[in-house]
Amino acid sequence: MAVTSRALQLISAMRTAVGGYSDEAIRDLAAQWVTAWDQLAPTWAQAVDVLVAWAAANGRWPTPIELARMQALQQALVDTDDSLDELAGATTAAVTAAALLAVTATVAAEVAVITAQLPAAYRADTRRRVSARVLPTSLDVIRTRTEQAITAQTRPLSADASKAIRRELVRGVALGRDPSEIARRAVAAVGGAFDGGLTRATTIARTEVLDAYRTASRYVHDANADLLDGWVWLATVTGRGATRTCPSCWAMHGTIHDLSEAGPLDHQQGRCARVALVKPWRALGIDVDEPAHTIPDRQAAFDALTDRQQNAVMGTNRLALLRAGLVDWDDLAVRRDNPAWRTSYVPRPLRDLNRIADRRR
Ligand SMILES: [Zn+2]
Repeated sequence: MAVTSRALQLISAMRTAVGGYSDEAIRDLAAQWVTAWDQLAPTWAQAVDVLVAWAAANGRWPTPIELARMQALQQALVDTDDSLDELAGATTAAVTAAALLAVTATVAAEVAVITAQLPAAYRADTRRRVSARVLPTSLDVIRTRTEQAITAQTRPLSADASKAIRRELVRGVALGRDPSEIARRAVAAVGGAFDGGLTRATTIARTEVLDAYRTASRYVHDANADLLDGWVWLATVTGRGATRTCPSCWAMHGTIHDLSEAGPLDHQQGRCARVALVKPWRALGIDVDEPAHTIPDRQAAFDALTDRQQNAVMGTNRLALLRAGLVDWDDLAVRRDNPAWRTSYVPRPLRDLNRIADRRR
C-alpha cells in the first residue's frame, strides 16, 4: 500500500474545508440569532414590565391562565414564534448549503486521494476511471437524502424553543424587592430558552455536514471497490492538533477497516477521516516497486510527544497503564451506542481500564 504524503495532504485539506463549511454556517446562524433577539428585546422588556408589576401587586408569580390574559406577553410570544420560524428556515438553508459544499469537496478530494496512491504514469488514466464511476445520479440521491435529513432535524427546532420559553414563563423567577432585578432575571430566562434554538442549530450543522462528508466519502470508495483494499482510520496524531486528539481516536488511528464498514465512527465533534486504501500496485497489474505508505505510526507519533503532551492526551493514570504495558492501544477505544448521536468509538473509562490491568497483573 502506498498512502502517499500527497494523499494525506489532500485528506487534511478536505477535512479543513468540510470543518470550515460547518463553522461558517454556525457563525452565520449565531449572527442571525443575535439580530433576532435584538429586535425582540424591546417587546420582551415591555411584556416583562407588565409581568413584574402584576407579580409585585399580587405578591406571587401569575398562573398560566393569568399569563395568558396578559396582552403584551402574548404579543411577545407571537413575535418570538415568528422569529423562531424564520431562524429554523435559515438553519435549514445554511446547513443544507454547507452540507452540499461538503459533498462536492469530498468527491473531488476522494478522487484525488485514490489517484495520488498510484505511480505518476498511471494517474491521469486512474483519475478518469475513478471520476467516471462517480455517477451524477448517485450524487443527486446523496444530495436529496442530505437535504431531507437536515429538514427533518430542523423541523422541531422552532416549536421546541417556543415550548422552552413558555416553560420558563410558567416556572417564573424568584420575587425580590428590586423589580428591575426580577425583570432582568425574567428576560434572561426567556433569552436563554431562545438561544437554546441556536445550540440545537449548531449541533445540527456539525452533525449533518460531517455526515454528508462521510456519506460522500463512502460512496466514492464503494464505487471504486475493485481498486481498494479497505480504508484506514486517520486521526490527527502529528502537528499542533495532536494533543487535542482523545485516547480513543489515538487508539483507532491507523486501523484498517473493510469497505462495507461505515465510518470513521468517531464521537461528536470528532475530526477523524477515512482514507481509501488502494490495493498493492502488483495486484492492480502494475509491475513497479512500491514505496512504503506514509500514514504516521501510532506508537512512533505518540513517542514523539513530550511527557507533558502525552499527559495532556491520556491523563496521568491512563498513561501509566499504557507505559507499563498493562493496557494496549486497542483497549483504549470502546464502541458505544449513543441514542443522541450514533454508534461511535469513545475513550474507555479509566475504571474499566483498571479492571483490564488488574486481570493482567
Ligand atoms: Zn476522539
